[in-house]
Order: sequence, then structure tokens, then C-alpha cells
Amino acid sequence: MLSEAELEAFLDEALPADEMARIELLLREQPALVEKLAQIHARRDSGMHSVSDIWRRHRISCPSRETWGSFLLGAVDPDMAAAMRMHLEVGGCRYCQANLADLQSQQTEAPPAAADRRRRYFDSTTGYLPGGK
Ligand SMILES: [Zn+2]
Repeated sequence: MLSEAELEAFLDEALPADEMARIELLLREQPALVEKLAQIHARRDSGMHSVSDIWRRHRISCPSRETWGSFLLGAVDPDMAAAMRMHLEVGGCRYCQANLADLQSQQTEAPPAAADRRRRYFDSTTGYLPGGK
């Protein structure tokens, strides 16, 4: 019988090719083992996984711009947010860093800039109102 650690490594495809083949063979011969593997898989899928598991699962693709927007608003779940932070900080993805910096500057600068424009507009027009001498 295989240990849970071995089965987890199998799920992660983190074993040498001949080990992977050996376990695949065992899984074909032992239905109980398949059940155990399914349990481990289900448990990991239900939120028992570590941040590094999520990282492994998400590192292939960059989160979309919309997802980064949600991230800034704190609207993604904590596991996902942790994985996204790792994507930036550990993965050092320059594309997402630029994307995030851009979104951040929009979120922090847009409202004051708009208010400023309005104020400037009204300030500059009040002097020219008819009878405003
Ligand atoms: Zn990225």
C-alpha cells in the first residue's frame, strides 16, 4: 500500500517517471487505492490545500486585469489573493506588476484628479460670468 505522501506526490506529478508508472499500475490493480487518491484530491480541492499548492496551480497563467482589479478591491478570496501575491513577489511577473501598478494609479488618482478638474473649471469660469465684475 502506498503512503499518503506518495499519493500526494503522484497528484502533483512530482515523482520520477518510473515511480509515476508504478503507481499508475497499482491504481489500475487496486480500486481501494483509487478511492484513497480521490479522497486526497477532494480534500485538497475543498480548501485544505496550502498556498504553495494554489501557487503551483495558478502560476501558469497570469490573472486577468479584471481579477487584479478585484484583488485591489479585496474582492478575491484569501487563498486566491495569497496566490496572486506570490505570483507578483515570488514569481516576479513583470507583466502583472505593470498591470497592477497601472490599476493602482487609476484607483488612487482618478477621483481627486476629476475633482481637481471640476474645481479648476469652475474657478476659471466664475470670473467670466455676466455681471460678475
Ligand atoms: Zn503574471
